[in-house]
Amino acid sequence: MAAVPVPPPPLLASHAAVRAAASAVSRSRRARLSGDQPPQVAALRRGDWVKLICGASFEDAADVRNLSLVYTLAGVDCIDCAADASVVGAVNEGIDVAASIIPAAQRPWRLVLMMIAETFISVKLNLILRIAHRIAQSHVRKFVLLMQYLLRASWLENTLNLIPYMGGVLTERCYGCGRCLPVCPYDRIRAVSYVRDPTTTSELLKRNDVDAIEIHTTGKGTDTFNTLWNSLSESINNVKLVAVSMPDVGESTVDFMNALYAIMEPHIQGYNLWQLDGRPMSGDIGRGATRETVSFAVHMASVSERPPGFYQLGGGINSYTIDCLKKAGLFQSTTFPGTATSETIGSHQTLIGGIAYGGYARKVIGRTLRKIPAQFGCVRIEDHPEHLLEALQEALSLVGPVKGYPALSSLS
Ligand code: SF4
Repeated sequence: MAAVPVPPPPLLASHAAVRAAASAVSRSRRARLSGDQPPQVAALRRGDWVKLICGASFEDAADVRNLSLVYTLAGVDCIDCAADASVVGAVNEGIDVAASIIPAAQRPWRLVLMMIAETFISVKLNLILRIAHRIAQSHVRKFVLLMQYLLRASWLENTLNLIPYMGGVLTERCYGCGRCLPVCPYDRIRAVSYVRDPTTTSELLKRNDVDAIEIHTTGKGTDTFNTLWNSLSESINNVKLVAVSMPDVGESTVDFMNALYAIMEPHIQGYNLWQLDGRPMSGDIGRGATRETVSFAVHMASVSERPPGFYQLGGGINSYTIDCLKKAGLFQSTTFPGTATSETIGSHQTLIGGIAYGGYARKVIGRTLRKIPAQFGCVRIEDHPEHLLEALQEALSLVGPVKGYPALSSLS
């Protein structure tokens, strides 16, 4: 009797759609390779560099892993994350899974973040909530979850899952934007600043699975930066790229940047990049947030004494940014528009090298991740190919307009 052909299982069929979309991205990227410079550097020169910001304080390893997987398939050039070994591990795992789906996918640079001072949010708890919160974060929780798994008592997990919320903030997911501070009517929320141990970061930079570092500055005073830089200088040559994130501090911005560059210059052997952080951690708010960042870019592009290096926009970046950059005449432009004698910085380097998506990139993927039914343990998005495809399409809607990919419909 002739064998009846067995149709492929639906999951594999869906993975095929993911492969088709990501392979088209990969082909589009390979077509742009030129010379022997790293593809990330070529992207910065062309002005189509895209970085995914996981964030300095965002340490939800499961989300970081899934975000890294999706945005690697979408073709980002760099993924930043907290300077923490387990978070770097989550980024690498996501990239490895993406490479197992599309072996030709370009591996993004992995960048660790250091802030002059990081912030997390703490909630003043009463005694009962403090005990509940401790349990939620302790080994007791793991034991109870194991019992729940063995006994299949879903009410137990549901109850336990509520406990962290009773504490008010999931610290590993808080990225310190501060928006909750003014809205708490009981004044129970406070911001706590801390400095990540530079020795730990220095050790991370010596590993071969970290490519870059970004230091976030406040735009005030160079002493703290100097101290931090000196504590990292021994390992700084191990990275390909040193980035500095700058807020707009008005008239003194360029002088401040030049002062920082003077501190860094003797030690930098790779590339350097300035992130213009127009309105930090606000990309998920809307169109208004992006205007401040683009104004910052317009100002910097018009200043001839700005320090050397690539320039990237961050803070307030969302689906409106590329249109806004185009209107300002700065999208992939090598000359500053609107001047009688247009400044040309070289026919092969754009004024603005690219953009960094943060809160908005996490938000659009988060919508898809939340549709995956709750399960025991971490959600691996590749186990849900239809959700992976949806997340990839969301990611492509952000990365595609910068990279100039063909229309989404022709990618799948
Ligand atoms: S609103 Fe911002 S600062 Fe407050 S908990 Fe959420 S991420 Fe953290």
